[in-house]
Parts: sequence; C-alpha cells; structure tokens
Amino acid sequence: MQITHKAFLELLSRLRRRCPVRVCVLEESPGARLLHRLLLPLGISFLSFAAFTWAGTIYLSRRLFNTAGGYKVLRHEAVHLLDQHRLGLLPFIIGYLLLLPFGLTIRAYFEWRGYRETLRAWWEDSPPKARRRGERLVGQFTSRRYGFMWLPAGMVRRWVERELARIEQTDGRACPGLELLSPPTLLRQSRPPRPHHLIR
Ligand SMILES: [Zn+2]
Repeated sequence: MQITHKAFLELLSRLRRRCPVRVCVLEESPGARLLHRLLLPLGISFLSFAAFTWAGTIYLSRRLFNTAGGYKVLRHEAVHLLDQHRLGLLPFIIGYLLLLPFGLTIRAYFEWRGYRETLRAWWEDSPPKARRRGERLVGQFTSRRYGFMWLPAGMVRRWVERELARIEQTDGRACPGLELLSPPTLLRQSRPPRPHHLIR
C-alpha cells in the first residue's frame, strides 16, 4: 500500500471532526529543541523521536512526512491527541510526566493505547510483519525510551500477543472510541509533495 500526502490529509480531516489539529516539523520546533537539550543528560535524544503531540499539534519528524511509516506514526499520535482532548491537556501531561517513572505508570497506559493503534496499522499492512514488529515493541516499554517505564518484558509481550489476536479475530476493528482512525479506503497518489510540507 502506498501511503501518501492524500492519506495524511484524509486522516487529519477525520480527526478535525473531533478536535482541532495541525501537523508541524518536529526538528523545527523550538520547544522540541529545548526538550532535547534538557533530556540529553538523561540519555534521551528527544529529536530522534518520530513524533510527539502537544495541545492540538502533532510534531512529526521531517523524515516521516508523506511516508507509509509516517502515516502509521500519525495514527499513534492521533490517539494521544484524542486522549488529550478527552481528558484535558493538563491531566494528560500530569499523568504522563509526574508519576513515578517505573512500573505500570499512567505514561505506560497512554503509550499502550497509542501502540495498540500502531499494531493495527502494521497489521493492515501485513499480519506477519505486525507480529515481528510487535516483538520489537516490547523494547519501547522496557528501555530508557519514554523515560524509564521499565515494565516487565513478559507482561508487554503478552499484551502484544493478546492485542494481535484481538485484531485478527475482529478483522482489524479499532479499539472503542478510536473508530475514526480506520482508513475508509486505500488512498494512492502518484506524486507526493515535498517532504517538509506543513499540514495545517
Ligand atoms: Zn506515544
């Protein structure tokens, strides 16, 4: 499946029926560059992240614009966007940042919600690939990435297996409340625009 600029726009237009959203280049964001400098001493390279979502804006890495990988990242970030809209930005940020950075944190809960959508997007591409990538996903929850969530690998592996089984049994049905992230069609476009194009 070739995912292009049109697929990005189509997903954003569905999201806008629920809440305001725009997409900017992560590396050009002064806030992201500041976070990068602040987190480097902790061994976290913020600018190497694929994306982050803050107050109605999805900051996506330049390399991912109008790519199939970027489209899947956008679906993951869309879950964070909708959660921030549903809960309010402040409760989301407090839950994400301030709780103890180990064990089953609220941060892990939010990230798992995003990665369930990522798994679904991978599965739509290729179920065998989704299973292989699901194994790599375990590392996201057990490493210093995302600020040391340190979940037991066996537990995350079981989550991934259960979620992939659910996706297969339901033929790719979205999690409740996230139905608008399902692509209605496979969108194709022969000439993608420039990669640094901003979507507003
Ligand atoms: Zn996330």
